[in-house]
Amino acid sequence: QERNADLKALIRTIPDFPKPGIQFRDITTLLLDPTGWATAIERMVAAVSGPVDLVAGIEARGFLFAAALAAPLKAGVLLIRKDGKLPGATIAEDYALEYGTDRIAIHADAFAPGARVLLVDDLIATGGTARAAVRLLAKAGAVVTQAQFLVDLPDLGGAGALRADGIDATALID
Ligand code: 5GP
Repeated sequence: QERNADLKALIRTIPDFPKPGIQFRDITTLLLDPTGWATAIERMVAAVSGPVDLVAGIEARGFLFAAALAAPLKAGVLLIRKDGKLPGATIAEDYALEYGTDRIAIHADAFAPGARVLLVDDLIATGGTARAAVRLLAKAGAVVTQAQFLVDLPDLGGAGALRADGIDATALID
């Protein structure tokens, strides 16, 4: 974490977005920084343990990380999308929001059972999104080998909950 202080400095906090009282961690400033972005991806790639068939990214910022990690790992990119966006037959999973529910989906024929999948996203907060992604991948027959995030908000407990579920969940920045 100390050695990622350079990356942490490239993330800004926007108060009261999207709602009053929320401190939004904005990674667009890190994305805009050529050295910062390359360094973040290099460090995430270096933290990958074991072989990976697919890197799964959660819509939308997770797609950036999935694409960038998959290329050097020689893995495929799996898009975990909001329901209703994928053209083929899908498998979906619901998860709770503060008010109501949301649904994410993947193509039902995206991979064969036993595929080794690395899950990535820009940030984990409560873990509701990432844990739904893990349930969805498991339901489709994947082996989720690891979950990686650029940012963890440890007070919200999401990464801890993933680890309690038996997933090796890590982030570059707390
Ligand atoms: P969770 O489901 O863990 O509570 O929320 C994580 C999801 O919401 C991720 O897909 C992440 O992109 C988004 N998210 C929630 N809070 C923030 C934030 O402060 N900054 C960014 N960049 N994304 C957030």
